[in-house]
This record gives sequence, structure tokens and C-alpha cells, in this order.
Amino acid sequence: MALRIERIPTLRDNYTYLLVCEATGEAAVVDAPEAAPVVRRVESCGARVRQVLSTHHHPDHCAANPELAERFGAPVLGHVSDADRLPGLTTGLEEGDVVRVGAETARILHVPAHTRGHIAYVFDAAKAIFSGDTLFAAGCGRLFEGTPAMMFTALSEKLGRLPDDYRVFCGHEYTESNLRFAAHVEPENRAIAEKLERVRKLRARRAADWHDAAAEEMTIPSTLAEEWATNPFLRARNAAELGRLRAEKDRF
Ligand SMILES: [Zn+2]
Repeated sequence: MALRIERIPTLRDNYTYLLVCEATGEAAVVDAPEAAPVVRRVESCGARVRQVLSTHHHPDHCAANPELAERFGAPVLGHVSDADRLPGLTTGLEEGDVVRVGAETARILHVPAHTRGHIAYVFDAAKAIFSGDTLFAAGCGRLFEGTPAMMFTALSEKLGRLPDDYRVFCGHEYTESNLRFAAHVEPENRAIAEKLERVRKLRARRAADWHDAAAEEMTIPSTLAEEWATNPFLRARNAAELGRLRAEKDRF
């Protein structure tokens, strides 16, 4: 595979990703709330960071943008509508735009709902989706700036239409609590029960500090096939059902 994807644990349960084009050594950072762990990883692997990418404007996804942009001399990319609130933004993206990381390319999908300017980066050759706080393993983001109908479109009509074997790299390690909710709303679903069992075992051995997390305790990436089998929000038949689930999850 020509795009190497390194998972960097940041804050308490965030994922920052370092994407390295193995053909060229050029790299991009996705969703960086703190700079130090990213800089350490970049230096240890000798990647040349050419872009800082953001899925949305929340600080736990982009607070380190200005520092990383300055350090690496790199532009900051995010949705064009977030120009006034996404730290360091230099390049506004829209649905259908293409971002190059070395020899690899990503398509931009605009998936407003968690925030109005939320985007996903889809690397077709690498079969990798960076979904931020829109699609989580077994869950979806809260509806801070959008409606259930908008999230239904984002999940079922955009991200969910991508091929089953695409990997889902989301913004947080929320999988275990998401699966507990999934098992609550779909108690007969064996795929959910089995994945919850597996994830509980992985997470029982987790490091005291998320920054020290071992690869074995990370439940990300998932795949779209797994999500269709285990994610109640992707499985919702319509916006009303998704809205009911989201409201119930907010209280769970
Ligand atoms: Zn967020």
C-alpha cells in the first residue's frame, strides 16, 4: 500500500493521523489538537509534512494547526465556510475538491451535521476515509449545527455509499461506549455483541495515559462493512429514526 497511515493518540481520546505517501515521503497531518506528539512522530519517521488537514473547526481537532503550519511551512486545509473560525486556515475546500498527498489523492465530501463546515477526506486508492466527528465506529457525532436529516444524508447517502472495504479512520476512540449503546438498541444483533466482546478485551488492557496507547488497544480503523453491520446510526432507515437514536444516545 502506498499510503502509510500512522495513528497518533492525542488529548484524552482523540486520534490524529499522519499520512505518508511511501513513493515520495510527502506527508499530511489530519486533525491535530496538540503539536508535540505529532512533531515527535514526524521526526521519528522522517516524513516531510506538506499539508495540515482539518475535518472541522472544533479545538480538539485543530488547535495545533498554526503551530504545525509554521513548523512545517505547510498550508492548512478545511471547509471554505470555516474561514473565520478554523485556526490557521489558508485553503478553503468544497465538495468535490481534490487534495494531493505526494502521489495519493483525496476527494472532499462535505458532510454538515456535527458542524456546518464538516468535511471528510476520501483516499480511493488507499481505501481510507477520514471521517472526523461525523461517522464513528458504531456511532455518529452529536448534532451541534445540523439536523437528523443532514446526518442521515452524510451517513447513508454519502459516506455509506463508499465501497464496503474502505477503512474508517474517525476522530475519537469512542468505540466501546458506542457499542454498549448499539447493544442496548439492537440486543439481537450478533455482529454488535461479538464486536463489543472483542473491543472490551482490547480496551481492558489500555495504557493509563492515552498518549502511551499501544497499537493493540486502538479499535480504529473500522471498515464500512463493519459499520453497516454494527452502527445503529448508519443502519437507521430514515432521518426520523436516526434523530430518535441520537436523542436517546445523548441521554444514555
Ligand atoms: Zn467535533
